[in-house]
Amino acid sequence: MERKQFLAPTSLLVFFVLLLTNCKTKSDSDEDTLLLLAAAASTRICANSSFTGTTVVNSTATLNASTDCITGMTSSMSADLPAWIRNNFKCAVGSVSGSNYVFRSQNIPNNKSFYFGSTSPMYEALAGGQKSAGNNQIASQCLVYTIPSSPSEKLTNKTGTQSGYASVGITVNGLAIFNNAAAAPDTLATEAQTFDKFNGHPQSSGVYHHHSQPLNVSNNNSNLIGVLIDGFAVYGRDCTNASNVTSTPTIANTQLDSNHGHSTTTLHFATPTYHYHYSDDPTATIPTLIGSYFHGTPGTVSN
Ligand SMILES: [Zn+2]
Ligand SMILES: [Zn+2]
Repeated sequence: MERKQFLAPTSLLVFFVLLLTNCKTKSDSDEDTLLLLAAAASTRICANSSFTGTTVVNSTATLNASTDCITGMTSSMSADLPAWIRNNFKCAVGSVSGSNYVFRSQNIPNNKSFYFGSTSPMYEALAGGQKSAGNNQIASQCLVYTIPSSPSEKLTNKTGTQSGYASVGITVNGLAIFNNAAAAPDTLATEAQTFDKFNGHPQSSGVYHHHSQPLNVSNNNSNLIGVLIDGFAVYGRDCTNASNVTSTPTIANTQLDSNHGHSTTTLHFATPTYHYHYSDDPTATIPTLIGSYFHGTPGTVSN
């Protein structure tokens, strides 16, 4: 009798471990971590009660023409944020808290996607040759980013971008940035086959994210794409002091360090300032928004 009671949960556990193992080949390394966290916590609690906004229901999701965010998403940037954030970021709530910028994001893309599901007004078929990321669908999140407002370089013992972060940065349209890795033996080149027409896809808990350039933000140009959790900005393929330039040559990897970055002036920084670029990545084997390491000391992300 006692043995029977012991066996039942054990076989459940074995089943669950098998389930996780089977999922692994389909997910990113960071996505495995999220799956484990989701298993550990039965309820998800937003880290701050001021995190408001309705949960987006995919079947009725529409784009709000005035905010250019999905209706029901909270979008505001506080007046004390620097202009490069205040004037460029949306579809999230940004504020300053001590020596950090804080972003809260429901993380719903303001672009059409296959991953809203076929009954959604925001649905769009995948491009030819692409395939679905399993049954994954976009879902509202409670992402809270705490990002140092005065980024500090960390040139020794660099922090890896594949260290289990819920997200390694936030795009100007409020979306999660994921690292340059996929679960072995896949590379991101394989995973890229599941990107929607805007280069994003959701992982198993519905966190829509970009490893690659978000195509409604930047398309091989010099646009600001977002900020990584170490506080350094990430730009598109090009590096100029003007926005939306597509005619100049893309920046060569030889002009960047192994973390996809360098220090120059940009449209937003009048003095030479470190920033990342969307660039070729030897680990991913496709261009990505970040390499294997942060240039600075990362802040924190919760979901
Ligand atoms: Zn991914
Ligand atoms: Zn640059």
